Amino acid sequence: MTGEIRALDDRTVREIAAGEVVERPASVVKELVENALDAGASRVAVAVENGGIDGIRVRDDGSGIPPEQLPMAVAKHATSKLDGMADLDAGVATLGFRGEALHSVGAVAEVTVRSRTPDADTGAELVVDHGDESDVRPAGCPVGTTVEVRDLFGRTPARRKFLKTPATEFDRVNGVVSAYALANPDVAVSLEHDGREVFASPGDGNRRSAVLAVYGREVAESMVDVDHGSESGAVSVHGLVSHPETTRAGREYLTTYVNDRWVRDGDLRGAVVDAYGGQLATDRYPFAVLFVEVPAPAVDVNVHPRKTEVRFDDDADVMGTVREAVRSALLEHGLLRSSAPRG
Ligand code: ADP
Ligand code: MG
Repeated sequence: MTGEIRALDDRTVREIAAGEVVERPASVVKELVENALDAGASRVAVAVENGGIDGIRVRDDGSGIPPEQLPMAVAKHATSKLDGMADLDAGVATLGFRGEALHSVGAVAEVTVRSRTPDADTGAELVVDHGDESDVRPAGCPVGTTVEVRDLFGRTPARRKFLKTPATEFDRVNGVVSAYALANPDVAVSLEHDGREVFASPGDGNRRSAVLAVYGREVAESMVDVDHGSESGAVSVHGLVSHPETTRAGREYLTTYVNDRWVRDGDLRGAVVDAYGGQLATDRYPFAVLFVEVPAPAVDVNVHPRKTEVRFDDDADVMGTVREAVRSALLEHGLLRSSAPRG
């Protein structure tokens, strides 16, 4: 079918663009938690209902947003974190920088942003209801920011139908919040589902206490430290990996970060698994919380709006260093049979 070329109406454009960032409850939670961490929060409390489908609330005690800035916070491509291309080229230190998350969520849900800065006596709130923005009104609230999301995809039944069961959506939310709790042991991160606490990390700065809170004692006690640099000196890897017998059926407990940014990269996970040689039972995967550091210019994190993929200049060096780092940690703790084939 061909016809006249016409511009799409504003609402359609908004919803198409929003779909790039907001795919499901977990993607909303990721953006909101990143904002809380970027705001320097020492506590981040996430609560979701029905897997996040019926409601999401993220509360932080960070720097807050002044009332007059609330409309900018939900505006398109508006950010306080990036000044222009020079900043982008230098490597971005904050988790967010595109300035499109709050705007995108507001296009496909009812979003309430309530915030108070440390020097203000009272807070303010703004509601964006499927693209319709309210005025800024005064609101009583503690210092920091609370963002509440309701009726996700309420006006786009096709999108809503694409969501999985509440249990599956919650697993993804849990994966996101866990990844940020593990990466930020100095922040107290908690997760609640339908009014029940799922975990709460203490925020004491100790990576092992975060692992204990998120994965429980058995897993935490089975984990050994990894700390290793590449021969070239360009890549270093540190973190924790589990005993070869402390495994799960899926790869989702292999949590990897590049320059402190959480990434779900199949090759990185593969490199960790390789390091165990033949020592994992069939279709079983270990736990890992692994941080890969590479010079900022040697990695591109701006590949996708959801920012979960990365590209390395020297892929072989990175993967080889990860494999060697995990392998030498396991060997050092006597957890690899010497006959295990080299990965
Ligand atoms: P980005 O994070 O890419 O800048 P967002 O749409 O996620 O874009 O947020 C827009 C702006 O709103 C941020 O740059 C920040 O100034 C402000 N903001 C959002 N969430 C918070 C928060 N929890 N605490 C303080 N400021 C926030
Ligand atoms: Mg953001």
